[in-house]
Amino acid sequence: MTTFQSRRMLLTTRPVWTLKQSDFTVDKQPVPSPRDRQVVVKVLWLAFDPAMRGWMNDGPSYAPPVALGDVMRGHGVGEVVDSAADDFPVGTLVHGNFGWQDHLLCDTADGVVGALEHVHGNKGALPVARKVPEGLPPTAILGVLGTTGLTAYFGMLELGRPRPGDVVVVSGAAGATGTVAGQLARLAGATTVGIAGGAAKGAWLTDTAKFDAVIDYKSEDVSARIAELAPNGVNVFYDNVAGRILESAIHNIALRGRVVLCGGISSGYSDEATAYGPTNLSTITVRSASMHGFIVTDFLDRFDEAAERLATWVRRGDVVWADDVQQGSVEDAVETLNRLFDGKNFGKQLLQIAEPSTS
Ligand code: NAP
Repeated sequence: MTTFQSRRMLLTTRPVWTLKQSDFTVDKQPVPSPRDRQVVVKVLWLAFDPAMRGWMNDGPSYAPPVALGDVMRGHGVGEVVDSAADDFPVGTLVHGNFGWQDHLLCDTADGVVGALEHVHGNKGALPVARKVPEGLPPTAILGVLGTTGLTAYFGMLELGRPRPGDVVVVSGAAGATGTVAGQLARLAGATTVGIAGGAAKGAWLTDTAKFDAVIDYKSEDVSARIAELAPNGVNVFYDNVAGRILESAIHNIALRGRVVLCGGISSGYSDEATAYGPTNLSTITVRSASMHGFIVTDFLDRFDEAAERLATWVRRGDVVWADDVQQGSVEDAVETLNRLFDGKNFGKQLLQIAEPSTS
């Protein structure tokens, strides 16, 4: 055993509705010593995605549910604090499916993106630590260069396929995925409209992320505003929200418009019974439009290509992003995840649980 102890958040109850601290048990375990290219990682930042709430439910999904008694799954960045791998010396910054715990033993692997173990779990094996790309803030791999950026890349460019002159509307636009999706549409030559809650998020979208227009769904009539901003219809609607916002976008969809179903945070993540379905699906038919759902892992074999293009845009400043970094300990993970459902986050939701020892 190393001298390291791990505080771990174990899922011990299937949550009902809003996630609660009492759905978890916190324990403390010694961390085994590394051998055969293993490392001990001290976790620095944990990343949060609304889908994580769904992984706690015991139902059919694209990823297996987190088993009761297991450490909650999730992507993180950490620092190697003990090493039996020459190319991962102490101090190396790494990322992987570290889960909601503050120290852990990992295998190591080359390559940047990996196979997204933080979505599907490690299937009984140890989590794998991969090096964080250099030259950008280490948290970029948790957002714009990680699952978030890849989701926006494939959802927008492969399924939305924006063309110059198109009007592209993005819901959840000030969130991590929406911010990137809208900017990729702008780079493709489209006019971009973001839907987000509140004036501060709207101002950031137009001033910093260079969206052409925003709609505040909390204070404006979404359908009427879309009609005003897209009088010839919406060519691409990239949806992170579902429910009534999706219904408004369908109402305004252009002939042969494309609706990309990325997520539906307004309905159904905690309980299917709360889901509100659009009542106007026949509009898709009469406008010869299409709706396409997807999961980012559908494009697993193209992750390297996408990560490289995203990194180029990010380094040039063509794509900007925001990290919302809460400070705390691993026990604050529950409250941090709930921020996404309350719309409290501004960009990629992260929780910093330790300081890096190197700058
Ligand atoms: P995020 O957008 O950074 O955070 C969630 C945002 O959703 C909040 O900031 C909030 O913004 C908005 N929201 C919450 N409740 C809402 C409601 N009732 N009505 C309207 N908006 C609401 O989260 P993210 O990680 O980037 O994920 C965005 C979406 O992409 C999620 O649906 C997620 O599940 C999905 N996703 C899909 C894939 C895939 O493979 N298909 C992969 C990753 C993520 P406001 O303040 O504007 O309300």
